[in-house]
Amino acid sequence: MMRGVQLIKPGVVEVRDIAVPAADSQALVRIKTVGVCGTDSSIIAGKIPVELPRTMGHEGVGIVEQAGPLGSVPAGQRVLIDPGISCELCDLCRRGYPNLCRNGGLLGRDFDGVFADFVAVDERQLLLVPDHITDDEAGLLQVLGTCVHAVATAPVLPGDVAVVLGLGVAGQLFVQLLARGGAHVIGITRSPSKRALAEQLGAAQAVAPEAAGAAVAEATHGRGANLVFEAVGIEETFAQAIELADHAGTVVLYGTATGGGSGLPYYQLYFKELTIHNPRAATKSDYQRAIDLVATGVIDAAPIVSARFGLSEARDALVACGDPSTLKVLMHTD
Ligand SMILES: [Zn+2]
Ligand SMILES: [Zn+2]
Repeated sequence: MMRGVQLIKPGVVEVRDIAVPAADSQALVRIKTVGVCGTDSSIIAGKIPVELPRTMGHEGVGIVEQAGPLGSVPAGQRVLIDPGISCELCDLCRRGYPNLCRNGGLLGRDFDGVFADFVAVDERQLLLVPDHITDDEAGLLQVLGTCVHAVATAPVLPGDVAVVLGLGVAGQLFVQLLARGGAHVIGITRSPSKRALAEQLGAAQAVAPEAAGAAVAEATHGRGANLVFEAVGIEETFAQAIELADHAGTVVLYGTATGGGSGLPYYQLYFKELTIHNPRAATKSDYQRAIDLVATGVIDAAPIVSARFGLSEARDALVACGDPSTLKVLMHTD
């Protein structure tokens, strides 16, 4: 038996004793570190439907306990688990969109996930994590992969002015990815501590939402930003992203909005001829880049971790994740 953090019904999470998954044609991974994120909160709240009971969690790093049949990753190796299951056979997989696979899904949502002592996955889902990346840093690799994927949909050019709306975990990673890419980055959040961290990590400046328009106008001679990354996931900040963008600009809606919406500045969308991207998940290439970015020190993940819990304290970890002052909440299994 092992521990598994399960959603029993909407709003009710329990740490239960469950069977260790059978790994007949798969690799068995002993989980070491997992990340808690807003997607987990949305699943618990019933905003993202799942079959019940569901073992939660999609951000996981562990040690291979039992290699898969190909032996591609030996036992004892630390790995990042790509939580996106794809069939490699459908039209979307074959067109290069395994993250959108018609037959696939996400661990912790469509399949039992990584908030457990063990998970069984196809060995093709495993990516090696170099030894000098700490367990804390490794806990950020999955979300960094999704940020790499988002930036790849809207490449930054040197000299761009880029706005990051929301300076939570993803926002702090976007600040770094965009600044390293040569952009003048303006971060926006209500939190003074998150503004300070963004400036430490590479933002030219970070301001409160009320000051965003003036800051962008000043940096762009009144024009607007070339790139705006929305990393909150609510309509209010999506609308603000449209307003802050320049004509011919690109808006990336990274935050996962689950509501129906009531109103956006549609005339601005038209008049500015904006390009809107709404990236979903990530590919293995994105995850490999995430590992390389942390391994080489281009991205500093350590300051983004703000709370650590044991797996048995999952309910406390999930509450901490909902606190707007926290950044990454990790759970370590031991
Ligand atoms: Zn996540
Ligand atoms: Zn597919």
